[in-house]
Amino acid sequence: MELSELTDFVEALGEKPFRARQLYRWMHAKTAASFEEMTDLSQAFRERLAEAAGYTVLKTVKMLESGIDGTRKYLFGLEDGNVIESVFMRYHHGNSVCVSSQVGCRMGCKFCASTLDGLTRNLTPAEMLEQVYRIQASTGERVSNVVVMGSGEPFDNYENLVRFIRLLSDENGLHISQRNITVSTCGLVPQIRRFAGEGLSVTLALSLHAPDDEVRKTLMPVANRYSLKEVLPACMEYYEKTGRRLTFEYSLVAGVNDSRREAERLARLLKHTRGHVNLIPVNPIRERNFKQSDREAVEAFRSVLENHGLTATVRREMGRDIGGACGQLRKSYLAGGEKEGNEVEEA
Ligand code: SAH
Repeated sequence: MELSELTDFVEALGEKPFRARQLYRWMHAKTAASFEEMTDLSQAFRERLAEAAGYTVLKTVKMLESGIDGTRKYLFGLEDGNVIESVFMRYHHGNSVCVSSQVGCRMGCKFCASTLDGLTRNLTPAEMLEQVYRIQASTGERVSNVVVMGSGEPFDNYENLVRFIRLLSDENGLHISQRNITVSTCGLVPQIRRFAGEGLSVTLALSLHAPDDEVRKTLMPVANRYSLKEVLPACMEYYEKTGRRLTFEYSLVAGVNDSRREAERLARLLKHTRGHVNLIPVNPIRERNFKQSDREAVEAFRSVLENHGLTATVRREMGRDIGGACGQLRKSYLAGGEKEGNEVEEA
């Protein structure tokens, strides 16, 4: 609930409105894990709350910490027994959390482990927030950036996503700047256009992965539904309405989309967007036969883009020793949990 909704709720329980603000701060600023922790609320009120409402808390089922860069992967358990994963990364500009938006995914991208078993269900706004809250509480370090780039297609869970963003950036909660929040989509056109009208100033990232519809269709089934002629103008509408520079994600797969010719075509496609290209050497998953482009191919690809005046960065690989690619940890856990990386039991 947003604060105004919570105020109505608390008043209906016979409490004064300022109690709502206290409760809200306990949940969203102090990331309390239960009503019991909220010691300046009366015992009677806490009991009434526990009777009238559920409290969503994620259980840490497993946590892996990279020995290379300190990246942490969390496997969280939901109330209904499903598991999701989230990632904590340390950067120079601050700590970043990558959150999942769904249990599984139904978009079917060929290189992605999250979609292999399809969609189980949407996550609630509370379950999305909790990923950030539990990670901040367990690391004891402030989270300043959030990317919705975990498992799931955020725009396939639109209302919950928007509520999540409003609560996450609310000044009475963690108050994470909308400018430090990124939503990544495979390109659902109606939702991109609707998102442009929400009055939010988050960064929109489009998963492009190909310079034309033909190659894109071989990697992403969504390309059969929306062509680039529809997706790119929708993204431009987002840029024009919000002023937020677009990010284009491009996962490089050896021999599939990483040639010089494709770099040239991509440069031509994006020249007028003023967007930024994020190159991601594909993270091979066991179930598919995709190979990572070698370092030279990645650098050559990048320099073609730069020669055409685009800005492009190669995404630094983090947590490679702990199964960095989308959905890999959850997948191996569900398959019987073979051990990857350095397992750390949380206190
Ligand atoms: N559904 C959203 C968010 C998902 S994941 C989207 O499609 O954008 C975030 C990014 O990681 C997407 O660009 C996705 O295509 C990419 N990705 C998924 N699996 C990958 C892998 N194994 N290697 C490289 N990139 C991957």
